[in-house]
Amino acid sequence: MIVAIVIAIIVAAAAAGFLVYTWRSSKITRNQLNRAITERDNAYATVSSLEEQIDALEESLSSERDNSSSLNSQVDDLETRLSGMESDVSQSTVDKENAERKLTAVQERIDTLTENEIALKAEIEEKDATIEENQSTISDLEAEKADLEEEKEALQETIDENESTLDFYDSYVVFVMLSDTDKLYHKLDCTRFTRQNFLAYSPKLAEASGYSPCPLCCGTGTDDTTDHNLTAG
Ligand SMILES: [Zn+2]
Repeated sequence: MIVAIVIAIIVAAAAAGFLVYTWRSSKITRNQLNRAITERDNAYATVSSLEEQIDALEESLSSERDNSSSLNSQVDDLETRLSGMESDVSQSTVDKENAERKLTAVQERIDTLTENEIALKAEIEEKDATIEENQSTISDLEAEKADLEEEKEALQETIDENESTLDFYDSYVVFVMLSDTDKLYHKLDCTRFTRQNFLAYSPKLAEASGYSPCPLCCGTGTDDTTDHNLTAG
C-alpha cells in the first residue's frame, strides 16, 4: 500500500512536473510566436513602405522618361539648329574666303598702282630735272641770242655803213688794169677785175683816159644778171 502511494506520488509529481514544463514551454513558444508576428508585421510595414517608394520611383522614372523624351526632342531641335548654324558658318567661311581673295586682289592692285606711282614720280622728277636743265640751257641760249642780236645790230650798222661806202664806190669809183689790152673799166665786184696792177678812177676820168665800160659790170644791161651781188643793194 505504501509502495502504491509512493508510486502514486511519484507519478503525480512527474505529472505535475510535466505540466509545469509544458506550460513553461508553451509560454516561451507563445512569446516567440508573438515576437515572430511582430517581426512579420514590421516586415509587412517595411515591404509596404518599399512598395510605396517603388511606386514613387516608378512615377519619378516615368516623369524622367517624359523629361528625357522632351530633352531628346530639344536636343534634336538644337542639332537641327546647330546643323543650320554650321551650314551658315560654312557659307560665312566661303564668303569670308571670297572677301579675302578680293581683298588680296585689291591689295595687289594697290601695290601695282603704288609701284607705278613711284615709277611715275621718279620719271616726273627726272623730267623736271631735264626741264630745269633745259630751262637753264634756254636761259643761256636766250642770253646768247641777246648777245648775238646786239652783235647783229652792230654788224648791221657796219653793213649799213659799208653799203653806203660801197654805193659810193659803185657810183663813183671804177678800176682799170694796166695790163688790160681791151682798155675796159670795171666795178669792184666784176669777175674780170683781178685786182692786180690796177688804178682807180671816176668813170668820167677813166673814159677821158681812153677806157670803155666793161659790158659785164658796167654794160648796157645785156649782162646785168651776172655777178652783180654787191651792186644790187
Ligand atoms: Zn667788168
